[in-house]
Amino acid sequence: MVQPLIDPFNRKIEYVRLSVTDRCNLRCFYCLPKRFRDFEEPANWLSFDEVERVIGAFGELGVRRVRITGGEPLTRKNLPHLVQRVAALPAIEDLSLSTNAVNLDRQAQALRRAGVSRINVSLDSLKPARFAAITGGHLDKVFKGLMAAKAAGFAPIKINMVAMKDVNDDEFEDMVDFCIDHGFTLRFIETMPVGDTGREAAGHYLDLQQVKQRLARRFELIPGVMPGGGPARYFQVKGSELRIGFITPISQHFCETCNRVRLSADGTLYLCLGQEHSVALRPLLRDGINDDELKDVLVKALALKPERHEFREKPHQVVRFMAMTGG
Ligand code: SAM
Repeated sequence: MVQPLIDPFNRKIEYVRLSVTDRCNLRCFYCLPKRFRDFEEPANWLSFDEVERVIGAFGELGVRRVRITGGEPLTRKNLPHLVQRVAALPAIEDLSLSTNAVNLDRQAQALRRAGVSRINVSLDSLKPARFAAITGGHLDKVFKGLMAAKAAGFAPIKINMVAMKDVNDDEFEDMVDFCIDHGFTLRFIETMPVGDTGREAAGHYLDLQQVKQRLARRFELIPGVMPGGGPARYFQVKGSELRIGFITPISQHFCETCNRVRLSADGTLYLCLGQEHSVALRPLLRDGINDDELKDVLVKALALKPERHEFREKPHQVVRFMAMTGG
C-alpha cells in the first residue's frame, strides 16, 4: 500500500525537483555572481545509484513526477544515462527537464530517447547583446538548442522568461510572437529574492498582473489550462495555439497548492524554495540506511514543510543561490 506523502497543511506531495549539479555554464545576474566558482565538490554529489534510490523511495511513497534541473543539468556527465534510470522507475509517469539549452543541440536526441518528454528552456531576451549581458552566454547556442529540441520531438517546449523592469520589459510582445512562430509555450516569472543575486535583482521586479494587462491590449487572452502540475496560471492567445503562463510567487503566491520538494545535487532535501527547512540525505545514504528507513526519513521530512515562503516578509531569509537549491 502506498503511504501518500501528506504535509502538515494537508498538501499531497507528488513532485520532486531533482538537481543533478549546482554548476552552470551561464551566470544570469539574478542567479549567480559573475565570477562564482564555489561549487559543491563532485564527490559530494549524489551518485546515479543514490539518485535512483531516493527517487525510487519517493516513487513508492506516491511521487509521480520528476523535473531534472540544476545548476545546468546538461553539464552533468552522462545525463541521458541518469535520465534513463529515473525514467525506468515504475512509479515515475512524467519526467521533464529545465535547461538553458546552451548544450542542448548535442544532447536533445539522447535525452528524448532516454525518457524526457517535456522540456523548459530559460530565455530572457531575443537580442544577442542583451542576452550576453544578462547571462554571459551566446544566444545562437540557445537557438540551436531550441531547434534541436523541436526536431527531437519534445512536447511541449516551454520558454521561461524572467520578466524584469529596465532589463527586458520591451521584449514581452516579441517573445509572444517568437513563441507563436515556433509553437512554444511561454511562461513569465517574477524575480525572487533568492540569494544576494536574487535580492540585487529585486530592483527589476515586475508584478506580472501588470504584464498580463499590458499583453491583453494586443492579444486576446482566454483563461486556459496546461498539464504539468506547475504553479503557472495559463491563458490561451486567441487565434493561435500559444499558451502563456504567469508564475507569480511574489504578487500572488501559490503555496497552498504546493505539491513539491527539492533534492539538491549534494543530497539535501529542501522542503521549500523560500525557506531553510531541509534534511541531509547523503550522510544517511552513505551510512547504509536501508530502503524502509529511507522512506521513513522522507515521510518524517514532510513534517518540516513550511506553510509558505516569506519572500515578501523576510526577503533576506534565503542565503543560497537558486542554482544551489535547483530552480
Ligand atoms: N539551468 C536551468 C535553466 O536555465 O532553466 C535550470 C536551473 S535555473 C536556476 C531555473 C530557473 O530559475 C531559470 O528559469 C532561471 O531564470 C530561474 N531563476 C534563477 N534565479 C532566479 C531568481 N532570483 N528569480 C526568479 N527566477 C530565477
